[in-house]
Amino acid sequence: MAGISEAEHAARRKRVQTLKKAIILLLILAILFPVVLCMILLLKINSLEQRIDELSELVYIKQKSVLTVDMEDTMNNPKSSVGFIMEQEGTADKGNSDEKSVPEEEGYTRKVYLTFDDGPSQYTNEILDILAEYEVKATFFVVGKEDEKSKEALKRITEEGHTLGMHSYSHKYNDIYSSVEAFSEDMIKLQEFLYDITGTWSRVYRFPGGSSNTISKINMREFISYLDEQGIDYFDWNISSKDASSERLSTEQIVKNCIDDLETKDVSVILMHDAAGKRTTVEALPIIIENILAMGDAVMLPITNDTEPIQHITNHEETEE
Ligand code: ZN
Repeated sequence: MAGISEAEHAARRKRVQTLKKAIILLLILAILFPVVLCMILLLKINSLEQRIDELSELVYIKQKSVLTVDMEDTMNNPKSSVGFIMEQEGTADKGNSDEKSVPEEEGYTRKVYLTFDDGPSQYTNEILDILAEYEVKATFFVVGKEDEKSKEALKRITEEGHTLGMHSYSHKYNDIYSSVEAFSEDMIKLQEFLYDITGTWSRVYRFPGGSSNTISKINMREFISYLDEQGIDYFDWNISSKDASSERLSTEQIVKNCIDDLETKDVSVILMHDAAGKRTTVEALPIIIENILAMGDAVMLPITNDTEPIQHITNHEETEE
């Protein structure tokens, strides 16, 4: 009896051992299979990304040659200024689109450029609604935001005739001002991203912190030279809403900051922000526009490469956020 039991036990142990081995093998396979699959997919993604980069480069080079032709065209025909800055995809009717984008300048002695930095944001659509209501064109110096709402806002900015300017992809001072290479990489990333979304090549730039920022360890003239080589103009501002200050300004204060010095300037570039927490800027905007309209001799225009540049060269007290 005990002998049979012993043999049975041995057989059972063997079966259990075999079963154990089978389970362990299955477990190993269950772990290995997804890991191997992931590795294959990662390799695939990598090669596709490389392919996308190559294709983007090709598109970029192709577009650049189109722009060069367009620039020559602009010199012969100064009226086609917007076509030079904002090359639209498939612009067969380029001549017409130029005319519609530039508001009438004649009869006005002052030019005012409304500019919004750091967008798109939760307020972009409201800002665009206000601008549309007053039929005013402005300039948005945007950063790289890839969510769907931001992409829609970027499209709307260009579709409604505003200028889409660049304000760096990352807006990280330490990165973009670490070297000309890093600056260039960041700018091209933003320029290509904006082109992919809107079909528009942005040709205007605003430095984060302005050209006179005191954060960059590298002489800003190096970045300015780089932009020059790329045919990109940079714009600072000569009127600040000061809405980037750490304390939130009241609507009245923002209006005052924007309009107080307007009478003293023939060309005003007003700095505002299209950014989270800047609700009072949105509230101030219609009042600012109405004040400018009331001047009677001022016209509000979008920035183009023909716009007389307002550029900081020396240090200034204020730093834009
Ligand atoms: Zn900024």
